[in-house]
Amino acid sequence: MSRTVYVNGEYLPEGEAKVSIFDRGFLFADGVYEVTSVLDGKLIDFAGHAKRLARSLGELDMRNPISTDDLLEVHRELVRTNDITDGVIYLQITRGAASDRDFAFPADDVEPTIVLFTQSKPGLADSPTAKVGIKVISIADERWGRRDIKTVQLLYPSMGKMMAMAAGCDDAWMIEDGAVTEGTSNNAYIVKGDTIITRHLGHEILHGITRAAVLRFAREAQMKVEERPFTIDEAKAADEAFTTSASAFVMPVVELDGAVIGTGKPGPIATRLREIYLEESRKVAI
Ligand code: PMP
Repeated sequence: MSRTVYVNGEYLPEGEAKVSIFDRGFLFADGVYEVTSVLDGKLIDFAGHAKRLARSLGELDMRNPISTDDLLEVHRELVRTNDITDGVIYLQITRGAASDRDFAFPADDVEPTIVLFTQSKPGLADSPTAKVGIKVISIADERWGRRDIKTVQLLYPSMGKMMAMAAGCDDAWMIEDGAVTEGTSNNAYIVKGDTIITRHLGHEILHGITRAAVLRFAREAQMKVEERPFTIDEAKAADEAFTTSASAFVMPVVELDGAVIGTGKPGPIATRLREIYLEESRKVAI
């Protein structure tokens, strides 16, 4: 069935939606994006995603073509027209299409391009994978230095995912200066004893919306949290490991570079955090 998508102010059948070949998202990866989950037809942490979108645009001196209220309405309209119960909404804003290819940013009168589309994922929160956990390899982090800006330059993460799959695993954790930065499309955590350890915020990682919520819930539940870099050796010797992202929530990691983590099954802290995150997020979904 053809989806209805949103492009530059219009709702269109997916086959009729078009973007210029001169679009800077296409030519220069000059664009930012967000992915917001939908559970039971409601948006999870829309406010967090809208806030990070504004920050990403600001860091790149890119104009925001839509107000937060209108953006919410577009999300809701797409959920309605595409009859999404569980899934995600992808949003991308680029610096638009100048009349030619030029490294210099175009003049202010060039309108940014905005595209949103839905991806239906029935039963998203009941993922069978979360019950067994995922296997991860480590790879060098060869991305650019401003990973805190959620740009559409996803070639290296995409290659990382392929490297993981070629190794019979599910994902890759990236290493820089001896420490784990994050997963290809998620934030990375280990648990040692009763302490949850995850890299501190900075330019080196994306400031995950799920990360912020999970750490808040962990602290509210009196769990100990340390925000600092950790090594792969530390991770291999950890009691548990997991990742967080808007579309996979809290995902246990049970193997790292062939080493079994903890018991080789999703650990109690990751499992509990997943439950709390889903329960609390559903309560305040809009
Ligand atoms: N790090 C990277 C590199 C990501 O691509 C993502 C997901 N977009 C995340 C972390 C997790 O962020 P969020 O919880 O906001 O989805």
